[in-house]
Amino acid sequence: MYYSVINVTSSIKQSGPTNIPYWTYENALEKQDATKSFRLEIKDSHLRVTVLNGANAGPIWKYTNFLDFICKVEVLCFRNTVNTYSSVLHNDTLFKELYNISNRPVSYIKNGVSSTKNESTGPCMICGVVLPVRAMQVDHQAAKGVRGGGDEALLRAFRAMGLTKGVAHGPKNSTILTHINSLASAPAVSTQPDRAPLPAGSRDDRYTLTDKGAVLYSIIKFAKRADEVRTRCLHGLTNLRLSCPHCNASRGDKLKYVH
Ligand SMILES: [Zn+2]
Repeated sequence: MYYSVINVTSSIKQSGPTNIPYWTYENALEKQDATKSFRLEIKDSHLRVTVLNGANAGPIWKYTNFLDFICKVEVLCFRNTVNTYSSVLHNDTLFKELYNISNRPVSYIKNGVSSTKNESTGPCMICGVVLPVRAMQVDHQAAKGVRGGGDEALLRAFRAMGLTKGVAHGPKNSTILTHINSLASAPAVSTQPDRAPLPAGSRDDRYTLTDKGAVLYSIIKFAKRADEVRTRCLHGLTNLRLSCPHCNASRGDKLKYVH
């Protein structure tokens, strides 16, 4: 995705200011806003992104900031975990920090004798039980098996980046946002039984992109990478969490946003 965006912007460097159709998400639905477009241009060694909507056109993103941001998004949100997402349990440092995975004593009974063994363990984010990670599953928070799951997963990732009108509700995505901004190590996310009540906020806003979010999504769309990004978000860090097999099986494949 990063290189596709670079390709779009470097061809604009050669061909001059380019107008790009304005694509966005409103209330979890992808749509093109025909009343808007935006212009990408290289000026004063910055790529300037200007949203064009009649009276109120203005630059929205400097190139250097934009590339820095895209790079962080690529690293943190669109990790290529497709087909191998279960490996995040063992290999992904940020996933392990977020989900409190570490060696703990696990009880065994062999031939009637109790003993403990240190093993890699983590808590189920839904019920809180701590099990060896080999007995855990990786739950897709936005459902992977239903139409619209990719849209919700993309919006979860964009929300974690601060690119939706409503802010992240859950503690994980706000932690990831802090991590992106400071690159500090991430504190563990509370399991659901310990969590404070969620702050009030509009569901519609959390599933609607800001102008910055729409600019990023429009460039992804222009680079013909939207389907790829949706798939990567489904299997990316912002959409995965640790779950015990019982909670994962009983949750089912439901969408958060039903039209
Ligand atoms: Zn559980």
